[in-house]
Amino acid sequence: MVLNCRPNGTLKTCSQAEGAHPIEGFNLNTDSVEDFWNCDWMRDFRRRKIRGERIPQCEGCKRTEESGGGSKRQGYLDRYYEKYKHRIREDGYVEEMPAWWEFRLSSVCNSACRICTPKNSTLIEKEHTKHYDFIPEYDKKQLIGCSKKQLGDGGNFLNEFWKHVNQIDAIELHGGEPLIDDNVIMTLQQLVDTGHASRMHVHVHSNINKVDEYVVSLLNQFKSGWFGASIDAYGEENEFLRWPSKWKTVDHNFRSLKLHSQWRKSILSAITVYQCLSMWKFLDWFLEFQDDCDMFFYTVHSPDRFSLEMINLNTRLQAAEELETYKPILHKRHHEKIDNLINNLRSTRTPLEKEYKGFIEYNDALDKIRKQDSFKLFPHIREIYETSSTKIHS
Ligand code: SF4
Repeated sequence: MVLNCRPNGTLKTCSQAEGAHPIEGFNLNTDSVEDFWNCDWMRDFRRRKIRGERIPQCEGCKRTEESGGGSKRQGYLDRYYEKYKHRIREDGYVEEMPAWWEFRLSSVCNSACRICTPKNSTLIEKEHTKHYDFIPEYDKKQLIGCSKKQLGDGGNFLNEFWKHVNQIDAIELHGGEPLIDDNVIMTLQQLVDTGHASRMHVHVHSNINKVDEYVVSLLNQFKSGWFGASIDAYGEENEFLRWPSKWKTVDHNFRSLKLHSQWRKSILSAITVYQCLSMWKFLDWFLEFQDDCDMFFYTVHSPDRFSLEMINLNTRLQAAEELETYKPILHKRHHEKIDNLINNLRSTRTPLEKEYKGFIEYNDALDKIRKQDSFKLFPHIREIYETSSTKIHS
């Protein structure tokens, strides 16, 4: 039921789809949603999922589940499968068009988070292009195709959207950073003006570096909403991971965000080898918001250079014990999220040498380019360099 696209118009089965493999032969800058939605590939994909086959695109979620975490895959199945399964015919054909549309109109972004890619952030694209000689081969490959026409630039995607608007129940705003994208804001205004907003749900993913009153007033005219603020850590750790954000601004914007009673607020934290041992600092901060805000921790598995398992198990077990002490002071509904993180910290998987190598190359490059000192904020990562045979830190 979800239409999942990238800013450059390529399509995926899901935002978590492993390795960002696009579905070949289609681009929403030029193609219609009808053509894609019931193409042979999609029908075959649906049939294989229903048969319970293990599919490469879903490996990221599978690995999360196998290391004890909660996956997007399972979350959506729990929420929507029973409601929508009657729509899928035996041959994989779906009569109705997608009810939930992802909006990734551009990769315009005012952040360059450590976990992100140039395809999703213009700031990263600019940085990696400028410092091309310093970035690892993996990241050089990610630059290919970034400058292609984006969905917000061409008319096709928005024309398709308005053609099917009566069948659309929800939109999910992604970026880049959607709240600084003029085309996103213009579309929200049009949905308000045409009356569709009052029957629609809107899902927002934002880094909340900039949230102005006009945008909040538009969001408040939707029937319901979910606001996911991407905050990976507390204070200067967040500034490092979600560079070049300022903690004072992030904290202020989150506190000031006033949305009506049919909205839910959440904080999404991408957990990596950097801050996984110090999430207790984040929890100390989160306690103030726990009554009316949810939290989600997702451990980054793709690319595999951020694996928690590169830190020795005893150190991770201590961090897990520390998180256990927060359960008595956190509401019960947050326990599952804490348990997911604890389970990931307790993972006994042995990382591959390529994971160490990938991390060291990338960490060295970004520290150098951004003049950051990862060892100072996260002293435990020194151990990764000592364990790996890739010793290139200068
Ligand atoms: S805010 Fe989002 S799109 Fe921008 S760099 Fe961070 S993760 Fe990427």
